[in-house]
Amino acid sequence: MQILSQVDISRLTSFQNSGIVPELVILESVQDASEFIRTARPFRMLGRGSNSVIRPGVTETVLVKVSPDAVDVQVDGNTLTVGAGIPVNRLMQMMQDAELGGLEFSAGVPASVGGMVAMNFGCWGYEISSFLSSVQVVLPSGEAVGMSPEELKFGYRTSIFHHQPWIVMAASFLLTPTPRLEIRKLVHDRIQERVSKQPLRGKTFGSTFKNPQNGFAGQILDQLGYRGRDFGTLQLSDQHANFMLNTHNATFEDVQHAIESICADVSTRLGVQLEPEVCFLP
Ligand SMILES: Cc1cc2nc3c(=O)[nH]c(=O)nc-3n(C[C@H](O)[C@H](O)[C@H](O)COP(=O)(O)OP(=O)(O)OC[C@H]3O[C@@H](n4cnc5c(N)ncnc54)[C@H](O)[C@@H]3O)c2cc1C
Repeated sequence: MQILSQVDISRLTSFQNSGIVPELVILESVQDASEFIRTARPFRMLGRGSNSVIRPGVTETVLVKVSPDAVDVQVDGNTLTVGAGIPVNRLMQMMQDAELGGLEFSAGVPASVGGMVAMNFGCWGYEISSFLSSVQVVLPSGEAVGMSPEELKFGYRTSIFHHQPWIVMAASFLLTPTPRLEIRKLVHDRIQERVSKQPLRGKTFGSTFKNPQNGFAGQILDQLGYRGRDFGTLQLSDQHANFMLNTHNATFEDVQHAIESICADVSTRLGVQLEPEVCFLP
């Protein structure tokens, strides 16, 4: 287990807001996770921070990450098991090495496997939970157990990990035998598709708001003239109105204020309650 002090937040998330957190715990094995969780310290998990904004400063709640090498990769028939800390680009490479396809819809996103499981990552009609056969979870007792997708209460951008202080250590995906070059081409195409529609290379946490029932947050923001709106230190993308960009060293509070003001305006003008998709940590 590594314990880092005075960590620069801008290195921990894709939004790169500024500030320092006093401590970051990095779990390097399942045993580390069991030992840490048994201390009963309050914690919040952090993956690659591609859906998160971190609050700087001192708090009792410690941020915890799973190292990419904490769990060995395994291929068993059509099942690929990878550690929670693995980033998407490595996952795409592992799929090509194993000649197992299915998760290419996530290509290009700066996320980790653990974060995708916790968020039930999805797009273009796919959701990560439909490819899962089992998830290795460390419980507060320190026990590491394999859990089925049914036990993890997946929904639209949610799962049991939003309600329980459990640690995802690894995920097993049931995939489809696919030639390496076919996977590579699909990965390439998916990245191109994203680049054409989203500010993929910008400092962003992806969708700011979840889609409300019977609607799309991006369309609502477009309708109210928010596309490209400048909030001083941050901006709603002119490529996709639901993507918030850190343009001038935005702070945690800047994001909170912008989100609160947009939610209040949308509620007043359309009677729609937008709910943030972005996670505020810890
Ligand atoms: C350019 C861009 C495009 C995006 N496109 C999409 C998209 O198409 N679809 C989509 O769904 N999202 C998208 N996102 C958002 C984001 O990538 C996803 O929500 C992703 O699942 C977050 O993964 P992460 O590792 O970065 O998680 P983080 O942001 O680090 O964490 C997200 C949540 O997961 C929890 N978590 C992280 N790791 C663990 C763990 N090991 N155990 C338990 N809980 C954990 C955290 O506590 C937090 O609640 C996009 C983001 C960007 C920047």
